Amino acid sequence: MTKKIHGFCLQKKERIYPNSGVSVTNNTAVVPIEIPQLKEGEILAKTLYTGICGSDTSAAIGKANFDWVERPRIIGHEFSAEVLELGPGDHGDVKVGDIFTPLAMLGCQKEACPACSVSKWNLCAEKEIIGFHRNGGFGQRVVLESDRVVHLLDGLSPVQGALVEPLSIITNALYTKCNIKPGQDVVVTGCGIIGLMSAEVARAAGARVAVTGIAQDRNIRLKKAKDRGFITLEVSPENTLRQQLKAGVFDANGVAFGQQAKVDLLIECSGVADVLTEAIGVVRPEGDICVIATYGQDVAINATHLTRTSLNIKGSMGSCRTDYLVAMKLMLTGVFPAEHYTDQYNFNELTQAFEDSITAKNMKAVVKMN
Ligand SMILES: [Zn+2]
Ligand SMILES: [Zn+2]
Repeated sequence: MTKKIHGFCLQKKERIYPNSGVSVTNNTAVVPIEIPQLKEGEILAKTLYTGICGSDTSAAIGKANFDWVERPRIIGHEFSAEVLELGPGDHGDVKVGDIFTPLAMLGCQKEACPACSVSKWNLCAEKEIIGFHRNGGFGQRVVLESDRVVHLLDGLSPVQGALVEPLSIITNALYTKCNIKPGQDVVVTGCGIIGLMSAEVARAAGARVAVTGIAQDRNIRLKKAKDRGFITLEVSPENTLRQQLKAGVFDANGVAFGQQAKVDLLIECSGVADVLTEAIGVVRPEGDICVIATYGQDVAINATHLTRTSLNIKGSMGSCRTDYLVAMKLMLTGVFPAEHYTDQYNFNELTQAFEDSITAKNMKAVVKMN
Protein backbone atom coordinates (compact mmCIF):
# COMPACT_ATOMS: atom_id res chain seq x y z
CA MET A 1 0.00 0.00 0.00
CA THR A 2 1.60 3.26 -1.08
CA LYS A 3 -0.81 5.79 0.39
CA LYS A 4 -0.28 6.58 4.07
CA ILE A 5 -3.41 5.93 6.05
CA HIS A 6 -4.52 7.92 9.05
CA GLY A 7 -6.93 7.76 11.95
CA PHE A 8 -8.45 10.02 14.59
CA CYS A 9 -6.85 9.06 17.87
CA LEU A 10 -7.74 9.66 21.51
CA GLN A 11 -4.54 10.39 23.36
CA LYS A 12 -5.28 12.15 26.65
CA LYS A 13 -8.29 12.58 28.92
CA GLU A 14 -8.05 16.12 30.20
CA ARG A 15 -11.45 17.66 30.90
CA ILE A 16 -12.33 20.14 28.15
CA TYR A 17 -15.40 22.30 28.61
CA PRO A 18 -17.41 23.03 25.43
CA ASN A 19 -17.17 26.66 24.27
CA SER A 20 -14.24 27.29 26.64
CA GLY A 21 -11.97 27.94 23.67
CA VAL A 22 -9.85 24.87 24.46
CA SER A 23 -9.37 22.74 21.35
CA VAL A 24 -10.20 19.05 21.23
CA THR A 25 -6.65 18.62 19.86
CA ASN A 26 -5.44 18.87 23.49
CA ASN A 27 -6.74 15.29 23.81
CA THR A 28 -6.77 14.00 20.23
CA ALA A 29 -4.75 13.93 17.01
CA VAL A 30 -5.01 12.63 13.48
CA VAL A 31 -2.12 10.15 13.30
CA PRO A 32 -0.66 7.70 10.77
CA ILE A 33 -1.85 4.16 11.48
CA GLU A 34 -0.39 0.73 10.83
CA ILE A 35 -2.47 -2.25 9.76
CA PRO A 36 -1.90 -5.12 12.18
CA GLN A 37 -1.57 -8.74 11.05
CA LEU A 38 -5.07 -10.29 10.71
CA LYS A 39 -5.83 -12.87 13.39
CA GLU A 40 -8.23 -15.84 13.20
CA GLY A 41 -11.73 -14.57 12.34
CA GLU A 42 -10.62 -11.02 11.55
CA ILE A 43 -11.06 -8.99 8.38
CA LEU A 44 -9.52 -5.83 7.00
CA ALA A 45 -11.95 -3.19 5.74
CA LYS A 46 -11.81 0.22 4.13
CA THR A 47 -14.02 2.63 6.02
CA LEU A 48 -16.48 4.59 3.87
CA TYR A 49 -18.42 6.92 6.19
CA THR A 50 -18.08 7.21 9.96
CA GLY A 51 -20.44 9.07 12.27
CA ILE A 52 -19.50 10.95 15.42
CA CYS A 53 -21.42 9.67 18.43
CA GLY A 54 -22.08 11.57 21.64
CA SER A 55 -19.92 8.97 23.34
CA ASP A 56 -17.04 9.81 20.97
CA THR A 57 -17.25 13.51 21.81
CA SER A 58 -17.62 12.70 25.52
CA ALA A 59 -14.45 10.61 25.39
CA ALA A 60 -12.66 13.31 23.36
CA ILE A 61 -13.43 15.99 25.96
CA GLY A 62 -12.40 13.72 28.84
CA LYS A 63 -15.79 13.12 30.50
CA ALA A 64 -15.53 10.81 33.51
CA ASN A 65 -17.89 8.17 32.08
CA PHE A 66 -15.29 7.44 29.38
CA ASP A 67 -12.22 7.35 31.64
CA TRP A 68 -12.10 3.60 31.18
CA VAL A 69 -11.15 3.84 27.50
CA GLU A 70 -7.46 3.09 27.05
CA ARG A 71 -5.43 5.70 25.19
CA PRO A 72 -4.10 5.83 22.52
CA ARG A 73 -7.23 4.59 20.76
CA ILE A 74 -8.62 5.16 17.25
CA ILE A 75 -12.30 5.66 18.09
CA GLY A 76 -15.46 5.29 15.98
CA HIS A 77 -18.19 2.66 16.16
CA GLU A 78 -20.80 4.04 13.73
CA PHE A 79 -19.57 3.36 10.22
CA SER A 80 -19.99 1.75 6.87
CA ALA A 81 -17.08 -0.07 5.27
CA GLU A 82 -16.02 -2.34 2.43
CA VAL A 83 -14.30 -5.69 3.05
CA LEU A 84 -10.75 -5.66 1.60
CA GLU A 85 -9.24 -8.86 2.93
CA LEU A 86 -10.22 -11.93 4.94
CA GLY A 87 -7.89 -13.21 7.64
CA PRO A 88 -7.45 -16.88 8.56
CA GLY A 89 -10.50 -18.93 9.60
CA ASP A 90 -14.15 -19.20 8.62
CA HIS A 91 -15.98 -16.00 7.70
CA GLY A 92 -19.41 -17.39 6.90
CA ASP A 93 -21.08 -15.33 4.16
CA VAL A 94 -18.64 -12.42 4.42
CA LYS A 95 -16.72 -11.85 1.16
CA VAL A 96 -14.21 -9.37 -0.20
CA GLY A 97 -16.09 -6.37 -1.62
CA ASP A 98 -19.08 -6.64 0.74
CA ILE A 99 -20.44 -3.35 2.09
CA PHE A 100 -21.41 -3.55 5.73
CA THR A 101 -21.82 -1.81 9.03
CA PRO A 102 -20.40 -3.51 12.12
CA LEU A 103 -22.21 -4.49 15.29
CA ALA A 104 -20.70 -1.98 17.71
CA MET A 105 -20.84 -4.53 20.51
CA LEU A 106 -19.36 -8.00 20.26
CA GLY A 107 -20.40 -10.45 22.98
CA CYS A 108 -18.25 -13.20 24.49
CA GLN A 109 -20.47 -15.77 22.69
CA LYS A 110 -19.99 -18.29 25.50
CA GLU A 111 -22.89 -20.70 25.97
CA ALA A 112 -23.05 -19.98 29.69
CA CYS A 113 -23.40 -16.20 29.17
CA PRO A 114 -26.97 -15.16 30.02
CA ALA A 115 -26.87 -12.36 27.43
CA CYS A 116 -25.02 -14.06 24.57
CA SER A 117 -27.05 -17.25 24.90
CA VAL A 118 -30.08 -15.20 23.78
CA SER A 119 -28.08 -13.23 21.14
CA LYS A 120 -28.09 -10.01 23.18
CA TRP A 121 -24.42 -9.15 22.83
CA ASN A 122 -25.23 -5.61 23.91
CA LEU A 123 -25.90 -6.91 27.43
CA CYS A 124 -22.87 -9.19 27.73
CA ALA A 125 -20.69 -8.29 30.73
CA GLU A 126 -17.59 -8.93 28.61
CA LYS A 127 -18.78 -7.17 25.46
CA GLU A 128 -16.19 -5.35 23.42
CA ILE A 129 -17.15 -2.09 21.74
CA ILE A 130 -15.33 -1.34 18.53
CA GLY A 131 -13.64 2.06 18.74
CA PHE A 132 -13.35 1.80 22.53
CA HIS A 133 -11.98 -1.68 23.30
CA ARG A 134 -10.20 -1.93 19.96
CA ASN A 135 -9.41 0.53 17.17
CA GLY A 136 -12.46 1.59 15.20
CA GLY A 137 -14.04 3.43 12.32
CA PHE A 138 -12.13 6.70 12.49
CA GLY A 139 -9.21 4.91 10.91
CA GLN A 140 -9.09 4.90 7.09
CA ARG A 141 -8.66 1.14 7.44
CA VAL A 142 -10.09 -0.99 10.23
CA VAL A 143 -9.45 -4.53 11.39
CA LEU A 144 -12.40 -6.23 13.05
CA GLU A 145 -14.03 -9.58 13.73
CA SER A 146 -16.17 -10.79 10.81
CA ASP A 147 -18.80 -11.80 13.42
CA ARG A 148 -19.65 -8.10 13.65
CA VAL A 149 -20.55 -7.73 9.97
CA VAL A 150 -24.11 -6.69 9.14
CA HIS A 151 -24.51 -6.41 5.36
CA LEU A 152 -26.24 -3.22 4.27
CA LEU A 153 -29.63 -3.89 2.72
CA ASP A 154 -29.80 -3.19 -1.02
CA GLY A 155 -30.76 0.41 -1.65
CA LEU A 156 -29.16 1.79 1.49
CA SER A 157 -26.31 4.26 0.86
CA PRO A 158 -22.98 4.11 2.72
CA VAL A 159 -23.89 7.43 4.38
CA GLN A 160 -27.10 5.88 5.69
CA GLY A 161 -24.99 2.89 6.68
CA ALA A 162 -23.16 5.07 9.19
CA LEU A 163 -26.49 5.87 10.87
CA VAL A 164 -27.69 2.30 11.31
CA GLU A 165 -26.03 1.78 14.70
CA PRO A 166 -27.37 4.91 16.44
CA LEU A 167 -30.83 4.38 14.94
CA SER A 168 -30.81 0.76 16.11
CA ILE A 169 -30.28 1.95 19.68
CA ILE A 170 -33.49 3.95 19.40
CA THR A 171 -35.54 1.16 17.85
CA ASN A 172 -34.39 -1.15 20.66
CA ALA A 173 -35.23 1.41 23.35
CA LEU A 174 -38.60 2.47 21.99
CA TYR A 175 -40.01 -0.59 20.31
CA THR A 176 -38.54 -3.37 22.48
CA LYS A 177 -38.01 -1.82 25.90
CA CYS A 178 -40.80 0.76 26.12
CA ASN A 179 -43.48 -0.64 23.84
CA ILE A 180 -44.45 2.80 22.67
CA LYS A 181 -48.10 3.04 21.58
CA PRO A 182 -50.07 5.19 19.15
CA GLY A 183 -51.78 8.15 20.78
CA GLN A 184 -49.24 8.55 23.55
CA ASP A 185 -47.82 11.92 24.52
CA VAL A 186 -44.05 11.60 24.64
CA VAL A 187 -41.38 14.03 25.82
CA VAL A 188 -37.86 13.57 24.55
CA THR A 189 -35.38 15.36 26.82
CA GLY A 190 -32.31 16.45 24.87
CA CYS A 191 -32.15 17.36 21.19
CA GLY A 192 -28.88 15.82 20.06
CA ILE A 193 -29.12 13.21 17.34
CA ILE A 194 -30.21 10.48 19.76
CA GLY A 195 -32.99 12.79 20.98
CA LEU A 196 -34.16 13.67 17.48
CA MET A 197 -33.95 10.09 16.24
CA SER A 198 -36.09 9.15 19.25
CA ALA A 199 -38.58 11.85 18.33
CA GLU A 200 -38.85 10.58 14.73
CA VAL A 201 -39.17 6.95 15.77
CA ALA A 202 -41.77 7.82 18.44
CA ARG A 203 -43.81 9.80 15.92
CA ALA A 204 -43.59 6.94 13.44
CA ALA A 205 -45.18 4.78 16.13
CA GLY A 206 -48.12 7.18 16.32
CA ALA A 207 -47.12 9.28 19.32
CA ARG A 208 -47.32 13.06 19.74
CA VAL A 209 -43.85 14.28 20.57
CA ALA A 210 -42.31 17.26 22.34
CA VAL A 211 -38.53 17.78 22.36
CA THR A 212 -36.61 19.79 24.95
CA GLY A 213 -33.35 21.68 24.56
CA ILE A 214 -31.43 24.51 26.17
CA ALA A 215 -30.62 28.05 24.99
CA GLN A 216 -27.50 26.78 23.19
CA ASP A 217 -29.72 24.51 21.05
CA ARG A 218 -32.11 27.28 19.98
CA ASN A 219 -30.71 28.07 16.53
CA ILE A 220 -29.69 24.65 15.30
CA ARG A 221 -30.97 21.56 17.08
CA LEU A 222 -34.25 22.88 18.50
CA LYS A 223 -34.85 24.67 15.24
CA LYS A 224 -34.37 21.38 13.39
CA ALA A 225 -36.88 19.74 15.75
CA LYS A 226 -39.35 22.52 15.07
CA ASP A 227 -38.80 22.33 11.30
CA ARG A 228 -39.54 18.61 11.51
CA GLY A 229 -42.88 19.42 13.12
CA PHE A 230 -42.21 18.54 16.73
CA ILE A 231 -43.34 20.60 19.70
CA THR A 232 -40.19 22.25 21.06
CA LEU A 233 -39.55 23.42 24.61
CA GLU A 234 -36.51 25.48 25.55
CA VAL A 235 -35.87 24.71 29.20
CA SER A 236 -33.69 26.38 31.84
CA PRO A 237 -33.40 26.21 35.65
CA GLU A 238 -35.82 29.18 35.77
CA ASN A 239 -38.27 27.68 33.30
CA THR A 240 -38.23 23.92 33.73
CA LEU A 241 -40.06 21.26 31.76
CA ARG A 242 -42.34 20.70 34.73
CA GLN A 243 -43.24 24.40 34.96
CA GLN A 244 -43.92 24.59 31.23
CA LEU A 245 -46.19 21.54 31.30
CA LYS A 246 -48.04 23.04 34.24
CA ALA A 247 -48.46 26.33 32.39
CA GLY A 248 -49.80 24.43 29.36
CA VAL A 249 -48.11 23.10 26.24
CA PHE A 250 -50.06 22.90 22.97
CA ASP A 251 -49.44 21.17 19.66
CA ALA A 252 -49.61 22.85 16.23
CA ASN A 253 -53.39 22.41 16.20
CA GLY A 254 -53.75 24.14 19.56
CA VAL A 255 -54.61 20.89 21.33
CA ALA A 256 -53.23 20.52 24.85
CA PHE A 257 -50.21 18.22 25.10
CA GLY A 258 -50.13 15.92 28.13
CA GLN A 259 -52.80 15.53 30.74
CA GLN A 260 -52.69 17.53 33.97
CA ALA A 261 -49.07 18.38 33.20
CA LYS A 262 -48.07 14.72 32.83
CA VAL A 263 -47.03 12.71 29.80
CA ASP A 264 -47.18 8.98 29.05
CA LEU A 265 -43.52 8.44 28.29
CA LEU A 266 -40.33 10.39 28.76
CA ILE A 267 -37.22 9.44 26.80
CA GLU A 268 -34.09 10.76 28.49
CA CYS A 269 -31.38 11.60 25.96
CA SER A 270 -29.68 14.59 27.60
CA GLY A 271 -27.30 12.88 29.99
CA VAL A 272 -27.89 15.71 32.47
CA ALA A 273 -28.47 14.32 35.97
CA ASP A 274 -30.99 17.00 37.02
CA VAL A 275 -33.11 16.26 33.95
CA LEU A 276 -33.61 12.65 35.05
CA THR A 277 -34.27 13.77 38.63
CA GLU A 278 -37.02 16.06 37.32
CA ALA A 279 -38.37 13.47 34.89
CA ILE A 280 -40.24 11.38 37.44
CA GLY A 281 -42.36 14.44 38.26
CA VAL A 282 -43.70 14.83 34.71
CA VAL A 283 -44.77 11.27 33.87
CA ARG A 284 -48.26 9.99 34.67
CA PRO A 285 -48.82 7.12 37.13
CA GLU A 286 -47.74 3.83 35.57
CA GLY A 287 -46.03 5.77 32.78
CA ASP A 288 -42.56 5.01 31.49
CA ILE A 289 -39.19 6.70 31.62
CA CYS A 290 -36.73 5.33 29.13
CA VAL A 291 -33.10 6.17 29.87
CA ILE A 292 -30.83 6.06 26.83
CA ALA A 293 -28.19 8.53 28.09
CA THR A 294 -25.32 7.89 30.49
CA TYR A 295 -24.24 10.23 33.29
CA GLY A 296 -20.95 11.49 34.66
CA GLN A 297 -22.31 11.31 38.23
CA ASP A 298 -24.92 9.54 40.37
CA VAL A 299 -28.49 10.73 39.82
CA ALA A 300 -30.82 11.53 42.75
CA ILE A 301 -34.27 9.96 42.41
CA ASN A 302 -37.25 10.49 44.74
CA ALA A 303 -37.94 6.78 45.24
CA THR A 304 -41.04 7.34 47.36
CA HIS A 305 -42.64 9.27 44.51
CA LEU A 306 -41.61 6.45 42.21
CA THR A 307 -43.46 3.93 44.40
CA ARG A 308 -46.53 6.07 44.84
CA THR A 309 -46.92 6.67 41.12
CA SER A 310 -45.96 3.11 40.08
CA LEU A 311 -43.58 4.52 37.48
CA ASN A 312 -41.40 2.36 35.28
CA ILE A 313 -37.84 3.52 34.79
CA LYS A 314 -36.18 1.48 32.09
CA GLY A 315 -32.58 1.62 30.99
CA SER A 316 -31.73 0.66 27.43
CA MET A 317 -28.19 -0.23 26.44
CA GLY A 318 -27.10 -0.48 22.83
CA SER A 319 -28.73 -2.80 20.35
CA CYS A 320 -28.33 -6.18 18.71
CA ARG A 321 -28.54 -7.62 15.19
CA THR A 322 -32.34 -7.61 14.97
CA ASP A 323 -32.42 -3.90 15.88
CA TYR A 324 -29.98 -3.19 13.04
CA LEU A 325 -32.37 -4.76 10.56
CA VAL A 326 -35.27 -2.67 11.84
CA ALA A 327 -33.14 0.49 11.66
CA MET A 328 -32.11 -0.25 8.06
CA LYS A 329 -35.73 -0.78 7.03
CA LEU A 330 -36.79 2.50 8.68
CA MET A 331 -34.28 4.31 6.50
CA LEU A 332 -35.09 2.37 3.32
CA THR A 333 -38.78 3.20 3.65
CA GLY A 334 -38.08 6.84 4.54
CA VAL A 335 -39.70 6.48 7.97
CA PHE A 336 -36.44 7.80 9.34
CA PRO A 337 -35.31 10.54 6.93
CA ALA A 338 -31.54 10.37 7.38
CA GLU A 339 -30.97 13.23 4.92
CA HIS A 340 -32.45 15.75 7.36
CA TYR A 341 -29.99 14.82 10.06
CA THR A 342 -26.59 14.26 8.45
CA ASP A 343 -23.87 16.87 8.16
CA GLN A 344 -21.10 15.58 5.91
CA TYR A 345 -17.41 16.33 6.38
CA ASN A 346 -14.33 15.26 4.45
CA PHE A 347 -11.51 13.39 6.15
CA ASN A 348 -9.32 16.50 6.30
CA GLU A 349 -12.13 18.23 8.27
CA LEU A 350 -12.26 15.51 10.91
CA THR A 351 -11.08 17.62 13.81
CA GLN A 352 -13.52 20.37 12.79
CA ALA A 353 -16.30 17.78 12.69
CA PHE A 354 -15.50 16.94 16.32
CA GLU A 355 -15.33 20.61 17.33
CA ASP A 356 -18.71 21.29 15.70
CA SER A 357 -20.24 18.25 17.38
CA ILE A 358 -18.87 19.24 20.80
CA THR A 359 -20.29 22.75 20.46
CA ALA A 360 -23.64 21.48 19.11
CA LYS A 361 -23.27 23.24 15.73
CA ASN A 362 -24.46 20.23 13.73
CA MET A 363 -26.87 17.30 13.97
CA LYS A 364 -24.95 14.14 13.09
CA ALA A 365 -21.47 14.63 11.73
CA VAL A 366 -20.68 11.93 9.19
CA VAL A 367 -17.12 11.87 7.87
CA LYS A 368 -16.15 10.62 4.40
CA MET A 369 -13.17 8.52 5.40
CA ASN A 370 -11.27 7.93 2.15
ZN1 LIG B 1 -22.71 5.58 19.54
ZN1 LIG C 1 -21.45 -12.88 26.66
